Amino acid sequence: MPTSNYIARATARDGLVRAFAIDSTDVVAELAARHGTFPAVTAALGRLATAALILGVMLKEQEQLVTLRLRGGGPAGTLLVTATGRGEVRGLVSNPRPEIDQARDGKLNVAGVVGRDGHLTVTKDLGMRQPYSSTVELVSGEVGEDVAYYLARSEQVPSAVGIGVFVRADATVEAAGGYIIQLLPGLPDDEVAGIETRIRSLPHPTAMLRSGDSPEGILARIFPEGWQPLDRIPVRFHCPCSRDRAERALVLLGGEALVEMREEGRERGHTEAVCQFCAAEYRFSTAEMDELIDEARAA
Ligand SMILES: [Zn+2]
Repeated sequence: MPTSNYIARATARDGLVRAFAIDSTDVVAELAARHGTFPAVTAALGRLATAALILGVMLKEQEQLVTLRLRGGGPAGTLLVTATGRGEVRGLVSNPRPEIDQARDGKLNVAGVVGRDGHLTVTKDLGMRQPYSSTVELVSGEVGEDVAYYLARSEQVPSAVGIGVFVRADATVEAAGGYIIQLLPGLPDDEVAGIETRIRSLPHPTAMLRSGDSPEGILARIFPEGWQPLDRIPVRFHCPCSRDRAERALVLLGGEALVEMREEGRERGHTEAVCQFCAAEYRFSTAEMDELIDEARAA
């Protein structure tokens, strides 16, 4: 899919402000299409994926991974997204189509599907032996506020997080994206107050994107007196699954489970393994299943 989706990374105020703005419209549209999400879940998963993409490019190395797991006790169940330092994201949700009001008071019912009583866990795989993991309680279940609370609490960086997803009446995604602005120690109080006032007066992130703002256009609204661009990182949906990985995952299930799967699939002539993250389907013939069973038993 051709895409103009990217993150603009910038600094302002002599490096005391770190800024990220993103257009993730196509990425969120693809997530919604692959998982067949109802509108409020599209918004919840899309907001989480958009935040994850920015947290991903905050990592030092492109190969590093960040995983956001949101469990709020709502009818959508667990939402899980993983992003890399190179701008790739994938995600899943345990119930993509919960039967509750998708909108409330003219807004998508994001907190309603996520729930408000639970936790956000952020795990960073930095290539060390142990991944680094941190959990905070949910503030609102609206995702953006919860990510802001995580950044302030766990990373001790006060951050303004504005992310949104606009879903059309036909349930397709018209716009997704937003910004994260981080205020580093040493920034004078009056400048902090000025930036906070400006951010409070901004239109909703998707209103800016729908009116034609690029990520740089969003930054220009937040820092009218100037900012320094650093780089642009293209973002996309990407799942690293493959037939090889599916085979290895099957072998790990053990001989007994594989025999059961083979028998269930015997009539169709094959057994299917479906990737939960991207819905890719890998088929294994009865003969191929026999080989995997031998492999599992030999292990
Ligand atoms: Zn996959």
